[in-house]
Amino acid sequence: MISKSLATVNPCSMCMPMGSVLVFRGIEGCMPLFHGSQGCSTYMRLYLAHHFREPVDIASTALNEKGAVYGGSANLMQGLRNVIKGYNPKVIGIATTCLAETIGDDVPQIVREFQAQEPLAKDVVIVPVSTPSYAASHEVGYRVALKGLVQTMAAKSKPNGRINMLVGSIISPADVRFLRRLFDDWGLGYILMPDISETLDATLSSDLPPIPKGGTPLEDVRDTANSRATLTIGGWVQEPGAGDYLEKEFHIPHVALPLPISLEFSDRLAAALEEQSGMPMPESYERQRGRLLDTMVDAHKVLADVRTAVYGDTEMVLGITRIMMELGMNPQIVATGAANPAFAEKAAEIAPGSKVSMGADFLQIAEEAKSRDIELLVGPFTGRRVAREGNIPLLRVGLPNHDRFGASHQLLLGYEGSMNLVEGMANVLLESRERVPA
Ligand code: SF4
Repeated sequence: MISKSLATVNPCSMCMPMGSVLVFRGIEGCMPLFHGSQGCSTYMRLYLAHHFREPVDIASTALNEKGAVYGGSANLMQGLRNVIKGYNPKVIGIATTCLAETIGDDVPQIVREFQAQEPLAKDVVIVPVSTPSYAASHEVGYRVALKGLVQTMAAKSKPNGRINMLVGSIISPADVRFLRRLFDDWGLGYILMPDISETLDATLSSDLPPIPKGGTPLEDVRDTANSRATLTIGGWVQEPGAGDYLEKEFHIPHVALPLPISLEFSDRLAAALEEQSGMPMPESYERQRGRLLDTMVDAHKVLADVRTAVYGDTEMVLGITRIMMELGMNPQIVATGAANPAFAEKAAEIAPGSKVSMGADFLQIAEEAKSRDIELLVGPFTGRRVAREGNIPLLRVGLPNHDRFGASHQLLLGYEGSMNLVEGMANVLLESRERVPA
């Protein structure tokens, strides 16, 4: 059910443009530019820098009172000039913030005018996306940015025989590296997009380029129109996005899968890869699957019947809830900050006895956790106050995670990632039981 409260107290979601940054940061030579007031960009780059422990530059058109009254066209054009001169990007991803959306700037039209009159724009792709935070969450910002990229750039040429592997929801750089390994080990040619594996998890270097190295090559983004199939991994309950656009526009068959968290959802991805490649699962993954089963049996004595609350991004929450059910745990609260009816439907199917919430905030989660006697919380660090006040152990997963190290290296996908999750939940519970009162 969706929250009916008149005010949101500590939302369980983030601003819509923030999601777009995670896509733009996964494209080679791409610089994000927010059209709106400066505070949005300051807040979001600090927020992401704390999570990834990497510098995350986001330019801003810094709209002021004058722009709010007379329109932000001049600011946007000047902002584009400054970004091109300062960063020399191959792509600029423009995301709007609440102010620009409220005054109603026609960003695509301003971009067309800029491209027509400005010689500096000649070698730069500009991708404008509409991301009003009052309308939707960061997850929707992520989806529209991914769709905006293929809408702007995908171009028909000759068949490439590859598979588009679209990362449909926010995962860690370690998870992206896992997906690469998986497709490589299966011998499949692919285009992975967006690829944050290096751009948001760089190696130590004295030479800090203005735009981090890595990301999906631009040629690959263009070539998505020529692939033989698209798999959106983590696009199970999302509204139509990049994969649907490629299917409609270029007739590329599209399958949207859940994030491969849990035995069932990992098997589902494996079945899709078997179908695409005509090859059985490589033996190393068979062994990983066996190890996951073994770990589940081992941890069962700690985890069985434990009453849990899981919250955060839709696809991640569904995968975690699924593995909780496979383990014989007792998910009582399944919540997301996104307003996503498809999520609510799937969550109710996966965990029929649970309280399913969308558009949730932490006030609501805290009240439910108290009344349902929750023993374990699983979700981003933003639930730490609920954990502290209710004296409930918390396993930090997903974004954001500001108060612990390792968010970029947290592997949750596949049999191996699911095993990490099982062990993580069991260990957090054991630690809390062993804690000596101060
Ligand atoms: S809610 Fe809107 S104005 Fe506030 S930080 Fe987010 S995008 Fe900016």
